[in-house]
Amino acid sequence: MSALAYATPRTGSHPTLTVDLGAVADNTALLVGRAAGEVMAVVKADGFGHGMVDVARTALAAGATRLGVTSLEEAGRLRAAGLRAPVLSWLNPVDADWAAVLELGVDVAVPGREHLDAVVRAAPGARVHLQVDTGMARDGAEPSRWADLCRAARAAERRGLLRVVGVMGHLACADQPAHPANVAGRDRFTWAVTTAGAAGLRPVDRHLAATAATLLDPRSHHTMSRVGAGLVGIDPSGTTALRSPLTLTAPLVDVRDVPAGCPVGYGHTWRAPVATRLGLLPLGYADGLPRAASGRAEVLVRGRRRPVVGRISMDMAVVDLGADGTGAGEVVTVLGPGNDGEPTVREWAAWSGTIEHEVVTGLGARLLRTVCPAGPRGL
Ligand SMILES: *Cc1c(COP(=O)(O)O)cnc(C)c1O
Repeated sequence: MSALAYATPRTGSHPTLTVDLGAVADNTALLVGRAAGEVMAVVKADGFGHGMVDVARTALAAGATRLGVTSLEEAGRLRAAGLRAPVLSWLNPVDADWAAVLELGVDVAVPGREHLDAVVRAAPGARVHLQVDTGMARDGAEPSRWADLCRAARAAERRGLLRVVGVMGHLACADQPAHPANVAGRDRFTWAVTTAGAAGLRPVDRHLAATAATLLDPRSHHTMSRVGAGLVGIDPSGTTALRSPLTLTAPLVDVRDVPAGCPVGYGHTWRAPVATRLGLLPLGYADGLPRAASGRAEVLVRGRRRPVVGRISMDMAVVDLGADGTGAGEVVTVLGPGNDGEPTVREWAAWSGTIEHEVVTGLGARLLRTVCPAGPRGL
C-alpha cells in the first residue's frame, strides 16, 4: 500500500459532505413548473458548492434545458464532462480566450463594445446574448450605451460575424416583490428588447428572472429563467418549500471533561458555566464553518442540539456535550435538511450574519464528498 493510500479519508472517520441529488432533481422540477419559459440551470461556483457536473446533469434530467456559468473555463469543464446541452457564459474579461467559444460551442454574454469587438475578432460567428444593466450598476451595458451596442452588434451580424440570439438582464431586488426596483428593472428590460428590435436584432432568448423572480414575479419570466440558488434548495423568496441537498457530518476527534469556569478556545470567549464534557470537531473556517457563527452555532449530537462554544478556529471547533457520556468518534451532524433536528444551512447563515449562498459555496475542498444519485424520475 502506498503512503497516500494510508492517508485516504474514509466516510465516518473524516468530515463528510453528502450531496443528495434527488433534492436537486425535485427542486428543478418544481422550478420548471413555475417558469413560463425554459429553465437554465446556473451551475457557477461548482454548482453553488454542490458539484458543478452533478448538479448540471441532474437538472437537465429533471427538465432544465440549458446551463449557465460565469467563465469560459467553467463552460469548458462542462463540455469536458461530456455535457452537450446549450451553455451560456456571462462573465469574462475582454481578453478572454474567445476562440474557445467556437471550440466549445457555447454562447457568451456581451456587455459592451470592447467585448463585442474582441468576440468578433477571435470567434467570428459566435452566438451572443447582449447584456443590459437593468438596475444594479454591476454587469451589463449602461442604458446610455445600449442603443449603440445594439447597432454595432447588428452591423456585425449583417457581416456574418456573430449571431445575437439573446438579451439578458438581472434584477437587484427580486426577493422583495414590492420594491420599486422590480418595476423599473422590468421596464428597462422591455425597453432594451424593443431597442434591440429597432436596431434589426431578433433575439429569441430574452431572460431576466433568477430564482426569486421565477418564484415571485411571472411578469419577469419572458422566454427563460436562469435559476441557481433554487436548484440547491435556497429560496430567496421565502415562499416555497425546496429541498436542501447537503448534509455535513464529522466524528469527534477527542473529548475531555472540564470543571466549571474552564475557558475555551482563542480569546477565552466562553467559560464552562458548570462542569461538562467538551468534544473536538475537526472542522473550522478553512472548511467553510463561518467564524462569525462562533458563540451562536449548534450541532446535532445523539439526537440533541449542542452548542459550539468558544471561537471557531481554522481547523477546529469545540462542542459542549453536556453530561450524557458522549465519547470520541461520535459522528456529529453539523448541518443537513433539518428532518432529524439537525441545523440547516439557513440557520448557519443566520448565525453568521450572511446568506445561505455564502455558506454553501464556502464549504471547503478538504471535506470528503459523497453523492447520492437522483435515481430515475417519473416512476
Ligand atoms: C448567479 C446568477 C443567476 C442565478 O441566480 P439565483 O438567484 O442563484 O437563481 C442568474 N443570473 C446571473 C447573471 C447570475 O449571476
